Amino acid sequence: MAQEDLFKKIIAHTKEYGYIFQSSELYDGLGAVYDYGQYGAELKNNIKNYWWQAMVQMNENIVGIDSAIFMHPTVWKASGHVDAFNDPLIDNKDSKKRYRADVLIEEQREKIRLKIEKEVEKAEKRFGESFDRATFVSTNARVLEYQKKIDDLTTRFQKALENNDLEELKQIILDEGIVCPISGSKNWTDVRQFNLMFATELGSVAGDASTIYLRPETAQGIFVNYLSVQKTGRMRIPFGIAQIGKAFRNEIVARQFIFRMREFEQMEMQFFVRPGEEMKWFEHWKEVRRKWHFALGFSQDKYRMHDHDKLAHYANAATDIEFEFPFGFKELEGIHSRTDFDLSQHQEFSGKKVQYFDNELNESYVPYVVETSVGLDRTFLSILSNAYTEENILKEDGSVDQRVVLKIPAPLAPVKVAVMPLVKKDGLPEKAREILQKLQFENNCQYDEKDSIGKRYRRQDAIGTPFCVTVDHDSLKDNMVTIRYRDDMSQERVSIDDIEKIVTRKVSMRRLLEKL
Ligand code: ATP
Repeated sequence: MAQEDLFKKIIAHTKEYGYIFQSSELYDGLGAVYDYGQYGAELKNNIKNYWWQAMVQMNENIVGIDSAIFMHPTVWKASGHVDAFNDPLIDNKDSKKRYRADVLIEEQREKIRLKIEKEVEKAEKRFGESFDRATFVSTNARVLEYQKKIDDLTTRFQKALENNDLEELKQIILDEGIVCPISGSKNWTDVRQFNLMFATELGSVAGDASTIYLRPETAQGIFVNYLSVQKTGRMRIPFGIAQIGKAFRNEIVARQFIFRMREFEQMEMQFFVRPGEEMKWFEHWKEVRRKWHFALGFSQDKYRMHDHDKLAHYANAATDIEFEFPFGFKELEGIHSRTDFDLSQHQEFSGKKVQYFDNELNESYVPYVVETSVGLDRTFLSILSNAYTEENILKEDGSVDQRVVLKIPAPLAPVKVAVMPLVKKDGLPEKAREILQKLQFENNCQYDEKDSIGKRYRRQDAIGTPFCVTVDHDSLKDNMVTIRYRDDMSQERVSIDDIEKIVTRKVSMRRLLEKL
């Protein structure tokens, strides 16, 4: 299936099955804002739990907080967001569509990379078994030409970003012949900077002093609380503070569904370390976070590490964990070595000392920080893109049936078990409810007695329920039920007393945490 079609299907599926709705759809929606429906909210909560347990519960030197969205406006002056949290935007004069200049260039680079992949695929077919990718890409004239294009473009792009050279960014777009995907024209405006923070007023007094911002990242809430947490928690360096919460950015290009939203959620952890030890911890967290994604069990080829072309004003090293979404490899998580930039800035702007006294070294210093920052919504989308599967099933009568199944890792699935009476009579519903009530203490369950059993199975497949338990007439006599497994549709006859054990083994978060 073409990736574009897959993406459309995923979006339609999430809407049809209560995962994600456009915000205020009744009023034709609000750009790049989405609501999570009954199953979406469950999946989101489970992802949050997986992250929180992996970061806070499994690490004795990491604690979690929940800071407010509104913060003192000077926080954002100190952090650099008021002056520098900008994206370079460019408009196409014909379509009147707005784009991020840097994203247009990155997409151009990706297009060239895909041309290399096509050459490799063609050659692979031609040479068969004897094909050696490494030799091919280092010798084939066409591939080398594409690679040189990528390298030249990267060097030029990097330099333009480093120098904040907006004219050069526009020139690159013109020289590369980049066209607007809507109008197909090269009729571009100049590139301008655009601040991404949403501003609002606090209280009833108008004017500059009362302007506050919706936080564009959760990290600053951690920085300004770092000393309070350190002291009250008697934390010793190295230690971390974690937080999950909403962030807001007035994104210029807000397409691609929940990948880029104006209101979204982040799961961030700031790890405070001794100055000079940050690179060791940077490498450590890169590895740990990679494992967290891999533990979900999807193909590892879907993830790649990408070092930043341009370091943010606060960072001395930065890597993205990218995921191959249906629209290409894009950032899923950022791991940044932020030096002592933020804490030093807060020390300067607040006039209060935020130093840590290191007993072992017998000296005070402003700690360095390594941060891991992953988008909850992007993680959600990565899981859905991996989980969405269409399967043809050969039926007993030789005909072919189709099913859509969400193969979400069982510990994250919104509904863990669906309990169903085969028919709506003869005491089967009562027996089914008895089982349900036992399972409900530990698991989110569903009771379903409507439609044929086949239709009910399909419904549960479509929302990703790992287990269906069916109660039939024999169950009343032998205390046995049929348990059906989502991924391979196999069925087994088991004792009612064993269901809980079977389910728990598979859906416990422990299954993921043990892999870390
Ligand atoms: P991008 O380059 O895609 O705009 P970023 O580098 O600005 O992302 P960070 O500031 O590093 O992103 O934010 C950390 C994480 O927050 C990102 O890796 C991403 O998962 C998530 N995130 C950032 N912006 C958005 C958004 N508009 N919608 C959804 N998630 C987002």
